[in-house]
Amino acid sequence: MPAAGGVQGRRPLVGGNWKMHTTREEARSLVRELRSELDGLEGIDIVIFPPAPWLADAHDLLAGSTLRVGAQHAHWERSGAFTGAVSAHQLAGVVDYVLVGHSERRQLFHECDRATARLLGAALAAGLSPLLAVGETAAERDRGEAEAVIERQLLAALDGLQRLDGRVAVAYEPVWAIGRGESATPSQAEEGCATVRRIVAERFGADAAARARVLYGGSVSAATAGELAALPSGDGALVGGASLRAAEFAGICREVAPSGGG
Ligand code: PEP
Repeated sequence: MPAAGGVQGRRPLVGGNWKMHTTREEARSLVRELRSELDGLEGIDIVIFPPAPWLADAHDLLAGSTLRVGAQHAHWERSGAFTGAVSAHQLAGVVDYVLVGHSERRQLFHECDRATARLLGAALAAGLSPLLAVGETAAERDRGEAEAVIERQLLAALDGLQRLDGRVAVAYEPVWAIGRGESATPSQAEEGCATVRRIVAERFGADAAARARVLYGGSVSAATAGELAALPSGDGALVGGASLRAAEFAGICREVAPSGGG
């Protein structure tokens, strides 16, 4: 199995987005299982995105391990009268990553492109690594608008940047493949990841595009992770449902890691 992105020397990345799942006890035991399965896996970055109330637990339980913690969302303002919100600034020290522009945030919480740009900028300013999700819906794809949607979301979110900060990773997540149990085909995933890389090259230059980490997300499982992560333009996976099962998520990470991480 070729290492994801190995030809260009990019380090693979796998993210596990737990969404609004787990009780506190379930979360703590899942973190412990993941640590025992995955701590020290070589050649790969692994980050889990538990629900906000369990972030500090995850941070403490993973202290001294190679696993990282990320937030599923944050607010761009540092502090203020924003009831219910948690700022990227407040999360610094507890998490290393933050998801930006996940399709569920865009669709269910009406997050606009401008909001993704503000959060992405605030995350970088707070010392966090943003993992930006972009991708078209089934209807947009059927109308032949997939590339245009990816381009609009990507350029909007990266609007404030003069150069592409190396901490920014992008996940191509076709909305029609999320939570469906069936991922995009490798050629569809490659097409989306390659589109992301082309747009990054046009905006920030070929070197930035060659260095940027681009993931695929959408119903990735241990059975499909290897072929999806081995795409020429892909560097790993953003995983939803399968990240709630320690053995399955560990299997995905091993598929993505160069030579199984050994
Ligand atoms: C996601 O929510 O980003 C995702 C990819 O979910 P799933 O793997 O369940 O499709």
